Amino acid sequence: MSFKVAIVGRPNVGKSTLFNRLVGKKLALVDDTPGVTRDRREGEARLGDLSFTIIDTAGLEEAATGTLEARMRIGTERAIADADLCLLLIDARAGVTPLDKSFSQILRKSPTPVILAANKCEGGAGKAGRMEAYELGLGAPLPLSAEHGEGLGDLYDALAQFA
Ligand code: GDP
Ligand code: MG
Repeated sequence: MSFKVAIVGRPNVGKSTLFNRLVGKKLALVDDTPGVTRDRREGEARLGDLSFTIIDTAGLEEAATGTLEARMRIGTERAIADADLCLLLIDARAGVTPLDKSFSQILRKSPTPVILAANKCEGGAGKAGRMEAYELGLGAPLPLSAEHGEGLGDLYDALAQFA
């Protein structure tokens, strides 16, 4: 059985972009419209000498009823149950939002280990958002740029502790 990492987080933080980068193929749909990914996608990811199964949890937006928060909660709980490790992504440029806080709350209560990553940090951007992210109670956020491939060395180090 392969090690499973679920990428979780609110719409538009860059989950599908990171998924595609780690899988090396465009299996997930990336779009500026929040919630565009309709189903959950799994792929075989490679990072250095690590290989693992990665889950893009966007499917949580597919349910037709309930508030966005309620739907995300259901999807996140499903992902947590299925994964060995959760990667909670936030958008460092947008800062911490109430939805980021509800994700953190769910993840803090779960026994599944969590890595907090602050995306969209290319070129040192998003410093204020990164500082805010400490209040999520999940430790120091790992600065990343899924789009530009920055921070992958630190992501490797973080994942290597679990894989
Ligand atoms: P998802 O809804 O969390 O799956 O987010 P997407 O992967 O669909 O990305 C949402 C938007 O953020 C798209 O316009 C991406 O191009 C953009 N994006 C993703 N990663 C980065 C990044 O590292 N830096 C910047 N500046 N934009 C990003
Ligand atoms: Mg997506």
